[in-house]
Amino acid sequence: PVAVLAIDGPGGAGKGTVSRLVAERLGWHLLDSGALYRLTAQAALKHGAALDDADALARLAGTLDVAFLAEAGEARVLLEGEDVTRAIRTETMGENASRVAAVPAVREALLARQREFRQAPGLVADGRDMGTVVFPEAPLKIFLTASAEERARRRYRQLQDAGVDASLSSLLEEIQARDARDMQRSVAPLKPAHDAVELDTTELTIPDVVDHILRLIED
Ligand code: C5P
Repeated sequence: PVAVLAIDGPGGAGKGTVSRLVAERLGWHLLDSGALYRLTAQAALKHGAALDDADALARLAGTLDVAFLAEAGEARVLLEGEDVTRAIRTETMGENASRVAAVPAVREALLARQREFRQAPGLVADGRDMGTVVFPEAPLKIFLTASAEERARRRYRQLQDAGVDASLSSLLEEIQARDARDMQRSVAPLKPAHDAVELDTTELTIPDVVDHILRLIED
């Protein structure tokens, strides 16, 4: 079977960057499962589906027309042929994604699509339920965390670097609200798999975390 490395944890713990760098170092494929929930929310907006219309959302999730492209080293995401790379990354779409992700039929509809990413030579799967639901057989599962304050600070710096105005206190509130929704939902709540290795990145740099994970894989 093709190896899977599951990397789960709350938003802003560095999962996205760490997963991408680990996948590059190993030459493995990458699944950004959060993007699929963001894309489902984006499709709902585009087609006028309400974020609490479970049937419509599940239909959209089951028929998502998406393409993940890598052009000139830049990752782009297309929804129905339209470039939504930036549109799906906003705080609002993260919030919408977390609403859509609480609908059981949406999670069910995205399950097979996520498992298709498992291809040789290996897969780094980034999300909330990679180790608990989507790839429970993964031999190595990492649960990345960081304090909410540190995650808000990281997000704040990211936005500043992108030239976007932001307030640290409202980012902290948004992060706490999203954590609460992700941990309290009835299906696939955010929690470490029983066999996950927990890694608190509050005091660690990205290269530290990447090296630590690569060492765990070698063992
Ligand atoms: O990781 P990202 O911020 O892109 O995820 C957006 C939202 O999608 C999360 O807040 C979470 O509610 C949902 N999600 C999920 N399961 C995953 C990945 C993301 O429920 N595997």
